[in-house]
Amino acid sequence: MASIFSRIIAGEIPSYKVAEDDKHYAFLDINPVAAGHTLVVPKHEVDYIFDLPNNEYAELTAFAKKVAEAMKEVMPCKRVGVAVMGLEVPHAHIHLLPINSESDMNFFAEKKQLQPEEMKAIAEKIFNKFNENETSHPEIF
Ligand code: 5GP
Repeated sequence: MASIFSRIIAGEIPSYKVAEDDKHYAFLDINPVAAGHTLVVPKHEVDYIFDLPNNEYAELTAFAKKVAEAMKEVMPCKRVGVAVMGLEVPHAHIHLLPINSESDMNFFAEKKQLQPEEMKAIAEKIFNKFNENETSHPEIF
């Protein structure tokens, strides 16, 4: 059965998309630890991230880097933090979080309650910046 993330990528389940290319998809986490908390996933469904072939792992992290750069430009934060767990959803993914302190990376903290319009506005900001960066300085990987 397709993972929930494959169903999101296929458009069967709605998501707040922040970036996409032919092999990857990035969208806001539905239970954000911080505003702008984003998940970056390969379209190729593999459970455990370190089971990805080396080239796919490298491409995923390069795509996540571009998403993080766009996030850093439009979200008020000192850094974009990175985490990989994958204990809940068996489809490899990278968490990206706009952070100002180590405590912002606390996955046990109460999740942020953001209204749909706030989620939509955040996703649009990141999406627009990602696409602007792709157009103005496309990277050759
Ligand atoms: P992990 O597998 O890394 O432990 O966590 C999975 C993450 O996916 C969680 O942060 C959870 O909130 C998020 N998540 C689970 N289901 C959905 C969903 O249907 N939509 C979105 N946007 N995020 C989800």
